[in-house]
Amino acid sequence: MNERIKSKAAFEEAVQYIPGGVNSPVRALKAVGETPLFVERAEGNKIYDIDGNIFTDYCLSWGVFLLGHSHPSVNAAVTAAIARGTSYGIPSLQETELAKLVRKCFPTMERVRFVNSGTEATMSAIRLARGYTGRNYIVKFEGNYHGHADHLLVSAGSGVARLGGASSAGVPDAFVSQTLVVPYNDTEAVTEIFEKYGNEIAAIILEPVAANMGVVPTLDGFLQFLRDITKKYGSLLIFDEVITGFRLSSGGAQKLYGIEPDLTTVGKIVGGGFPAAAFGGRADIMKMLAPDGPVYQAGTLSGNPVAMSAGIATVTELSKDSFYDELNGRVDVFEKALLKAIEGKGITLKRVGPMFTLFFTNGKIENFQDVQKTDQERFARFFRYMLRNGVYVSPSQFEANFISIKHTDKDLERFVELVSAFNE
Ligand SMILES: *Cc1c(COP(=O)(O)O)cnc(C)c1O
Repeated sequence: MNERIKSKAAFEEAVQYIPGGVNSPVRALKAVGETPLFVERAEGNKIYDIDGNIFTDYCLSWGVFLLGHSHPSVNAAVTAAIARGTSYGIPSLQETELAKLVRKCFPTMERVRFVNSGTEATMSAIRLARGYTGRNYIVKFEGNYHGHADHLLVSAGSGVARLGGASSAGVPDAFVSQTLVVPYNDTEAVTEIFEKYGNEIAAIILEPVAANMGVVPTLDGFLQFLRDITKKYGSLLIFDEVITGFRLSSGGAQKLYGIEPDLTTVGKIVGGGFPAAAFGGRADIMKMLAPDGPVYQAGTLSGNPVAMSAGIATVTELSKDSFYDELNGRVDVFEKALLKAIEGKGITLKRVGPMFTLFFTNGKIENFQDVQKTDQERFARFFRYMLRNGVYVSPSQFEANFISIKHTDKDLERFVELVSAFNE
């Protein structure tokens, strides 16, 4: 491993021009007491930094690269698209083609609107849910992340369901006063809040498997419970599948667990490495959207032909027969070995499909409070240890790790060996 001299210099220069030297905060590696490595290129499951180091990547641009970096068919599609111009502001066939593919994978997304980021997708889905129901309150779960739209930047307190306060400066309390925050996996708290506000609740939004507080699966029956209670009160159920969509199965968590939400957001994988995301759902709800209906939503670069082409190539690849069976088969073996490696180490593994988190605790992991009790100092040591050994794991205890089809059995065995030898 080379000293990261060039990366350090690059970071020192970057902070002169870019706040914190980064364009998204977690990239600064503050939580793990490091400075960022600067990437020269990425291919397959490897990232190459500007100091000549090579890392096996388990972050994969935050889950984007299910197919690995620089996948040949995605790159070919993108190159061909660029040759035909990079944005029109006029419809192109690629938009319908990707919408068709998305609906095939997610039959609940009867109509699909493309946007540029997961943040836009959830923000627009919420606006639509409010427009459709004529209600204002939304319910979100503690520790679930839905991008950085004002009214979703609420993490709120512990234990009981209550009105949340903003979790960012610059967000007036009035903006989040219509956001009700409850602990994840807590049916009682949800029941309580519906008994109190039920007829004014437009929607519940959630990550059907949480991945932004580390991987925290829903408990058995929780999703069905949410489906039932939203139906009962005439509220909509929104699955934020920006991470889980196309990752847990071709049809995301909703296919895996057999629950049909009213609206869904997807992002990350669907853009094939470009800024694209989407929201969609029942046709009668989506009809409320401009230009058909009164709920406004728009975007200069939305449905961008290059991003659509990357998405089409990506979804086509992952739609191939046995794609997920093969990948998950390998991850099953990895999970078994990893469970053995962490025995007696004070580490808890949570994994759903090709996505996992090692929590530095012996305690149960069911909600945000549990995650907050983990040993974050020890996680930071683990991150630095893995980095020294050429493995880039997601740089926070509150994030998921991702496995792509380019991770070989050997790569996964190496990961397990390193965990097994970890004693800091
Ligand atoms: C990443 C993510 C978002 C935000 O997407 P951006 O493209 O970063 O705006 C929203 N929801 C979930 C579940 C995510 O993982």
